[in-house]
Amino acid sequence: MEYPRININLSKIKFNTEAMVRQCHQLNIEVAGVTKLFCGNPQIAEVYIDSGVDLLADSRIENLMKMKDLPLPKMLLRLPMMSQVSDIIAYSDIGLVSEPVTVQALSDEAQRYGKVYKVILMIDLGDLREGIFHEEEIRQAVDEIIKMKSISLEGIGTNLTCYGGVKPTWENLIRLKNWKECIEKQTGQPLRVISGGNGSTLSLLPAPGIPAHINQLRLGSSLTMGIGLNDEPIKGLYQDAFTLEAEIVEIREKPSKPVGEIGLDAFGNQPVFEDKGFRRRAICAIGRQDIHPEHLSPVEHGIIILGASSDHLLLDITETTEDSKVGDMLTFYLTYGGCLSALTSPYVQKYYV
Ligand SMILES: *Cc1c(COP(=O)(O)O)cnc(C)c1O
Repeated sequence: MEYPRININLSKIKFNTEAMVRQCHQLNIEVAGVTKLFCGNPQIAEVYIDSGVDLLADSRIENLMKMKDLPLPKMLLRLPMMSQVSDIIAYSDIGLVSEPVTVQALSDEAQRYGKVYKVILMIDLGDLREGIFHEEEIRQAVDEIIKMKSISLEGIGTNLTCYGGVKPTWENLIRLKNWKECIEKQTGQPLRVISGGNGSTLSLLPAPGIPAHINQLRLGSSLTMGIGLNDEPIKGLYQDAFTLEAEIVEIREKPSKPVGEIGLDAFGNQPVFEDKGFRRRAICAIGRQDIHPEHLSPVEHGIIILGASSDHLLLDITETTEDSKVGDMLTFYLTYGGCLSALTSPYVQKYYV
């Protein structure tokens, strides 16, 4: 099986990662290199390491397990599942948390394992995904966690622009500084880490856009795809480290409107068509089981994506100047969501260039 395939350009990922690491380190910000887009693939994670990231971070413990032999500390990004505490203690060193009951379970397991597990307490600044929102509950969680035997409260963190679309600003990030001071007073111990969010926080650069106390960012899409807030390109980085190639299995002239009475398509929708007369159409051997067509854009000019069923991608190639034939490959740029599904699909070959 050679196609469809996703081409992974390791030197572009290296270039992006080195550039971001340099910028962050200048500001005394450590970089957690986020590996979830590529399912913790150790070969790509090694590029992160060669480029100077300080730790490896993933939302799934299964992905961290794949990287167990790589030398950097591993961070679990998604709140830990009770049902996974033993793997979490075995395969990660630090986790983002918000529920003391889970942290207690981690502490018990860490104690059995003879390890001290590090946690970063997540504070919800308004995006409404993970983290504690109410002030009193933050104080109470700190009180509980600080008493746990095999847990070290490393710091606090936040996550923005994921559910609510709330943008990072000086004003909301400065609240983390206030919390740091508050919690240090409460416990009498220093908090080493203030984890100031994901790649969208980079939109506050250049300095002094990010408040100085932020000393960690968790970066994934900026390193791999060169994109930041609102998936906008970050200047000077590559956006095309990943491209997708799919094989043409049919090229035929057909009407642009289906012929016959119209019912529902394969996904239960009533399709609507514009009549543009007869058009030259191509079918590529890739479909929704691999990737949703809205996450693809053809590299070649003039190609229009018409739609896709589970295994077929339909294209209008009337306007292209290229003389494509059956058996040729077409190349596509990918969105973040497109990369995510192509890199996750077992039907899409991973090819390193
Ligand atoms: C995915 C994730 C990140 C990285 O986000 P990017 O947009 O890829 O930089 C950071 N933090 C958490 C908690 C995440 O789940």
